[in-house]
Amino acid sequence: MTTEITPLIAGNWKMNGTSASLAEIARLAELMAQGEAPRCTVVICPPATLLAQLAGQASAAGIVSGGQDCHTAANGAHTGDISAAMLADAGAQYVIVGHSERRTNHGETDALIQQKASAALSAGLVPIICVGETEAERDAGRAIDVVTTQLSGSVPSGFASVVIAYEPVWAIGTGRTPLASDIAEMHNAIRSHLVARHGVVGSGVRILYGGSMKPSNARDILRIENVNGGLVGGASLLANDFYTIISAV
Ligand code: PEP
Repeated sequence: MTTEITPLIAGNWKMNGTSASLAEIARLAELMAQGEAPRCTVVICPPATLLAQLAGQASAAGIVSGGQDCHTAANGAHTGDISAAMLADAGAQYVIVGHSERRTNHGETDALIQQKASAALSAGLVPIICVGETEAERDAGRAIDVVTTQLSGSVPSGFASVVIAYEPVWAIGTGRTPLASDIAEMHNAIRSHLVARHGVVGSGVRILYGGSMKPSNARDILRIENVNGGLVGGASLLANDFYTIISAV
């Protein structure tokens, strides 16, 4: 892990959780208070229905809140959508954009994701921009090409702060992870791309790994060069598992 960048561990609850799940935040806060101070920024991205409640409860424990998606517009006739300003108003500081489930299930393109990231920045949120190849693309030797093309299309220019999450689509929710050497190769390629395109700002961008990160593999993944934290799905739902990952930093 690159030491001069403060790592970030973000939990993506996806479409999971009701108010009863806030007990996990209370438990996480308890674990964090009992242990050493975390050496990373800790973010939880709950479903939008829980955001305001969670933000209120979590901030006292040093846990930051985030949204899972936002609209490109600040407001308007977009039934069912949520703007970045609304997320910020509910207490979010981050928002995930371009998650592969949104790219696949909602047909989101790089251009749309770039607009969402720009909307997030305008509302004062830090976008966590997700990229990643499918298994077929990796098998065809195109992984780096696919991911750098996604970066070119979805990362806005002139940003003050963005986070990139490299999430191989085939590793999400499957229990499978790439070889450490493949993660290293991809994260180094992402870093080179960011520096070439965004200069010195690109060298400070946090690059997270996501895809079946869990207590048993977090330590090994987090020590890889240019891995500056993790985006965690399933293992973020249980406070004990998520805390073990936070402690692995
Ligand atoms: C995710 O969906 O962002 C993710 C990384 O999920 P999981 O950890 O469950 O693979």
